[in-house]
Amino acid sequence: MTENRNSSRPHNILVLGGAGFVGSHLCERLLADGHIVDCVDNMSTGSLANVAHLMHTNRFTLTQYDVVRPMKFVAKFDQIYNLACPASPPAYQADPIHTLKTSVLGAINILDLAREHDATVFQASTSEIYGDPLHHPQNEVDWGNVNPIGPRACYDEGKRCAETLFFDYHHVHGVKIHVARIFNTYGPRMAVNDGRVVSNFIVSALLEKPITLYGTGAQTRSFCYVDDLVDGIIRLMNAPDTVTGPINLGNPEELAVREFAELILRLTNSKSSIVYRPLPTDDPRQRRPDITLAADLLGWHPTISVEAGVLRTISHFDSLLRRPVPAEAYATAALALRMPYLSTILAASMKTNASEALT
Ligand code: NAD
Ligand code: UDP
Repeated sequence: MTENRNSSRPHNILVLGGAGFVGSHLCERLLADGHIVDCVDNMSTGSLANVAHLMHTNRFTLTQYDVVRPMKFVAKFDQIYNLACPASPPAYQADPIHTLKTSVLGAINILDLAREHDATVFQASTSEIYGDPLHHPQNEVDWGNVNPIGPRACYDEGKRCAETLFFDYHHVHGVKIHVARIFNTYGPRMAVNDGRVVSNFIVSALLEKPITLYGTGAQTRSFCYVDDLVDGIIRLMNAPDTVTGPINLGNPEELAVREFAELILRLTNSKSSIVYRPLPTDDPRQRRPDITLAADLLGWHPTISVEAGVLRTISHFDSLLRRPVPAEAYATAALALRMPYLSTILAASMKTNASEALT
């Protein structure tokens, strides 16, 4: 295990995609650790609701901006986290060309920014790099088995190209990089309409609606609770420069998707039925991270069991769905908050460092 570098010194930190599910937890933890956090997000899958509770401190600012456009800031950053990219299959497939631009043009813009600021930059890569994996569990030397023209390619190939760009900027320009390959992560603040399996199953179970299982449900995933992931991300960012990654971050506790549905039904005490739907094209058949590298280099391993994490997530959705405003109205409100004019007004009224400086 290596010592964390300067993790206690306050940093000026830019979090791209910070209003999303993982990003909002990361911003929250960085603020709790005493850092100054500028969050930039295009609010496509993120929401103001995710970060509203962070607005009380002047160490946090939020700006609506798209990473496909070059970025200029007056503020000087020493750390940049790139989480900007939709992660749910329905979300990233809705506008595949923009998803690809987000990963590829976004990476170029972010790496140019890191060069300009001499900042250390973290990249949220993904287990999708491995595609439908040929080896099990997946470790970082696997090159992957990805269909370059399938419906998941905009995400998988975009993230693969982003990894290439990170390592080329590192080798050619000496940019300090840390790349994590993140496996399925879940927890509070996933949107009700996120579309990924955890939120779909829990919301259906709580509403006593049928759970939709794709294929036979024999395909496997390994689910990591968001607090564990955020801890791993921060450890990696603060690791020595030589620890570039890519490093897998995920919980090796592997479940068949059908077992996961049964777990949700049990923990919600729901009478929902299970209905079967066709398996989406190129849906990976199995997925479990080998986290030996993360354990050896970062001293990291998940601490929250799937059952404990799922119970916390159920409680989040339960209180969300029980609010006086119905879930549909909540989703509509969240969509309204993404409207550009409103966000511009908010950015202006917040007089953030970043909103003043972005061109
Ligand atoms: P999310 O969709 O909740 O968050 C992504 C955030 O990025 C959102 O706030 C969205 O509005 C923002 N965004 C998207 N495109 C952007 C753009 N062009 N410019 C600026 N902002 C943009 O997803 P998440 O689960 O929080 O994932 C965060 C990151 O982690 C993503 O990069 C994702 O690929 C990666 N990741 C997540 C998982 C997971 O299971 N959650 C697994 C592997 C990798
Ligand atoms: N899945 C499912 N029902 C749903 C959503 C997803 O059976 O309502 C399956 C999906 O086919 C995949 C797994 O659950 O095998 C995980 O899907 P998710 O979209 O969460 O993430 P992925 O790992 O596929 O990117």
